[in-house]
Amino acid sequence: MKAALYIVPTPIGNTGDITLRAIETLKAVDLIAAEDTRHSRTLMAQYDISTPLISFHEYSDAHVMDRLVSRVDAGESIALISDAGTPLISDPGYALVRGVQNKGGLVIPLPGACAAITALSAAGLPTHHFHFEGFLSAKRVARVKRLEALKALGTTAVLYEAPHRIVDLLTDMMSVFGEAHEVCIARELTKTFETIRRAPVSEIREWVLSDSNQQRGEFVVISAAVTQSTSLSAEGRALLERLASELPPRKAAQIVADHYGLKSRELYQQLISD
Ligand code: SAM
Repeated sequence: MKAALYIVPTPIGNTGDITLRAIETLKAVDLIAAEDTRHSRTLMAQYDISTPLISFHEYSDAHVMDRLVSRVDAGESIALISDAGTPLISDPGYALVRGVQNKGGLVIPLPGACAAITALSAAGLPTHHFHFEGFLSAKRVARVKRLEALKALGTTAVLYEAPHRIVDLLTDMMSVFGEAHEVCIARELTKTFETIRRAPVSEIREWVLSDSNQQRGEFVVISAAVTQSTSLSAEGRALLERLASELPPRKAAQIVADHYGLKSRELYQQLISD
């Protein structure tokens, strides 16, 4: 095993979602730095991994990190894992990666499960450009401010949210983006109660409010790209897409623009970039 820090993704729910290389790496390294060693022991047992574990999380003292960096520097191999998914994606590890690299050490990333990418792949929203936001602030004023920045950014945006704040997030998204703004909510991905639904934010909010089961578990919320100067409703958007499936895009854009009093050129741009 090469002396290096290995970044190893673990499943986000379904324990089958771990790669062969991840298992081999976790078996072969000298040490595994895990966010929560108790949590990770279950996965280790399932895959017969007996490598020693050490706790490493966002509140770890600086000397824990320094020791890990020194061990890689001294020729050891260390795997970094988080509780679920890809380390460093709304999870700790950034300072450790930098620390190893700054000492001339090798950092080897393994590809694998990530809730953001899993949700994005099934959201039915444009993915050619997207912004990863992760968790917004728990404070309303800061959250709304950030949502306004996302609106101005105008691209598909991926958010993580805790179950006790999901309704607040949807409420704030509705006030910032408008009721018709399309969002996708992806709950409990890869697990028994996996639910993926795309609809106008007002509809998603009502649905989540009316069914307490929809307020449980883990969530990714994806906000559709906003085209700044054309405020096309969900209905208008559906009409545009329907016409574009039958007509040349320029013609479809022209008809919808005339109908809603919008700029044909912008609708056309929107069509060809989706
Ligand atoms: N590093 C992880 C990754 O690669 O996705 C994310 C860790 S972050 C601390 C945990 C958040 O990710 C959850 O609160 C939720 O927003 C999202 N998440 C993780 N697993 C999920 C799942 N199975 N379904 C939906 N969202 C999930």
